[in-house]
Amino acid sequence: MKNTVNLWQLFKKIRPFVAPYRWLVFITLILTLIGALAAQVNALTLQYAVDSINQLLSEGQGLQHGWHILITITAILLGKEILNTLIQFGQKLFGEKLRILVSQDLAQSIIEKFLTYRLAFFTQDDNQAGKLQTRIDRGIGSLTRLVQIFFIEILPLFTSAIIALGLMFYANFWVGLVALCIVPIYFLLTFRQAQKLGNWRRNLRDGREKKSQGILSIINSITVIKSFNREKIEADKQLSLQRDLIQNQMQTRQVSFLFDGLKTFIEQIGVVLIIILTAYFVLAGQMSIGMIMYHVLLFNNVSAPIRSLHRIYDEINDAMIYSESFFKILEADDEIESTGSLKPAHLQGEFQLKNVEFFYPNGHHALKNINMTIHPNKITALVGLSGAGKSTLISLLDKFYQPQSGVISIDGVDLQDIDTAYLRDHIGLVLQKNHIFQGTIAENIRYGKTDASMDEIIQAAQKASIHDQIIKLAHGYETNALMLSGGQQQRIAIARMFLKNPPIIFLDEPTASLDAIATEQIKHSLDEIKQGRTVIIISHSLSQIIDADYTYVMQDGEIVEHGEHYTLYQQQGVYKNIFDAMAKSLNIDKIAKTFEEEELHHS
Ligand code: ADP
Repeated sequence: MKNTVNLWQLFKKIRPFVAPYRWLVFITLILTLIGALAAQVNALTLQYAVDSINQLLSEGQGLQHGWHILITITAILLGKEILNTLIQFGQKLFGEKLRILVSQDLAQSIIEKFLTYRLAFFTQDDNQAGKLQTRIDRGIGSLTRLVQIFFIEILPLFTSAIIALGLMFYANFWVGLVALCIVPIYFLLTFRQAQKLGNWRRNLRDGREKKSQGILSIINSITVIKSFNREKIEADKQLSLQRDLIQNQMQTRQVSFLFDGLKTFIEQIGVVLIIILTAYFVLAGQMSIGMIMYHVLLFNNVSAPIRSLHRIYDEINDAMIYSESFFKILEADDEIESTGSLKPAHLQGEFQLKNVEFFYPNGHHALKNINMTIHPNKITALVGLSGAGKSTLISLLDKFYQPQSGVISIDGVDLQDIDTAYLRDHIGLVLQKNHIFQGTIAENIRYGKTDASMDEIIQAAQKASIHDQIIKLAHGYETNALMLSGGQQQRIAIARMFLKNPPIIFLDEPTASLDAIATEQIKHSLDEIKQGRTVIIISHSLSQIIDADYTYVMQDGEIVEHGEHYTLYQQQGVYKNIFDAMAKSLNIDKIAKTFEEEELHHS
């Protein structure tokens, strides 16, 4: 993946998330500065120690006069370590606090944002649930890591390096210059190393993902693998993946070690140069001997941050790659659902579609020149083979998608002008598999009306013919709803609809995933909810189709026939074919014969 954001843009994007925590940043910066100054104390102390001891010795004096030196050094070094411990503690604490707060804000803002996006955003190929989640997780992870790296690692190290370099220049221009010259060489090496390793790191990551996917797929298909006796083949597949991975790991390590060696070499050359240069000045009488110590330790402070540069570089790179897709999600303002402003006093649900054309985001032409009228307070059935476009039609009526051309109106008002939330408040959607949330039965029913009382919930459950079963459960309405059977869950969803009590109901194959008994049991709840509402039902169940007042037959995105059941059946067209096929698949002849024989037997 090529990163198109640069570091500066990235910082600009993160800034609003860090801004509320200015005080944390401020404290961290102050601590950083104190820490950077304290880091130079060792060098100063050692220089002082060497020079003072050297002077004592040259004056022919010994330990009895040197105690005060030892005591001073001990006090300074000990004091500095105590200070340092406190500073590091504070820095880590505040840095971590900043990271946690920023990551929470990032997570919350992206959730709030994408909840407002239109459905098309979620059905795009690269936004499937798993991928979206990975992108968000990685984005947040690496962005907050970046904030943390900046405040806990880069800033303290580099402040200390700059101060040390300044002190070296202050002590002697030439020594400072030598130290400064080593830095760009080091930078260059780090950069080359990161570049070289970048590709391999990516390969390594891919390889690891492939391998763990491979293991997962073995576990998932273990029955098939065993029934075909393919254990050996699967093992070999894993072996070849492992071999690639090993190859890659070896190469990565080799390059890493090579560059690490080179960097240490350059650093040591720097140390040697500084020792020789300082020794020269000492011998020339321009410096005290303690300066050798002083310079070597300062140089150590200069090279310390550059040593970890490689790791920091990698993390920044990762952050830029992952944050790109993160911000793409966060900033997809064109994906925000459109809404009108009209809220008619009363929505009855007379839908009119005129010349409606609809293409899915992937280009699929799902609805072609649709013209239809849905009569209010009637049951309209949509019939057609799977893939004909029935669900798509319902999605358009719920404003999940917008037609590319043509007009959809409700009670004479263009759907685009209607407030989307208001429209959805008036529509109930019952799907093939209804979503049951993690939580109790009561909570799941209450989703239909968040302020519903327990009495209302029970009433709704009674209307959906599920109350009697719920009270038989050990925990009644407090039972985990995910434990219920498919048929029971479907009735929970219908109870939710009773509570919401919308004037318009869309039923999209409400019994398709249920067995015969459950379908029979649910029929009553469905008949109940259809009463006095505008209903559109998609179904493959003969009984539900026959019950409809009016039927539209769809094929390949078009409406090919429409009318009432008997009229349609007599047209000898698509409807009759589908209807006959359904009846045949039920084996109605034999079923009828069974019932006849049973009756004969009894009579
Ligand atoms: P039905 O409900 O009649 O079975 P759908 O309305 O679900 O049919 O689908 C109609 C056509 O649109 C099918 O060919 C289906 O593959 C396609 N389709 C459905 N959803 C999407 C989508 N999100 N993106 C692209 N094509 C889709």
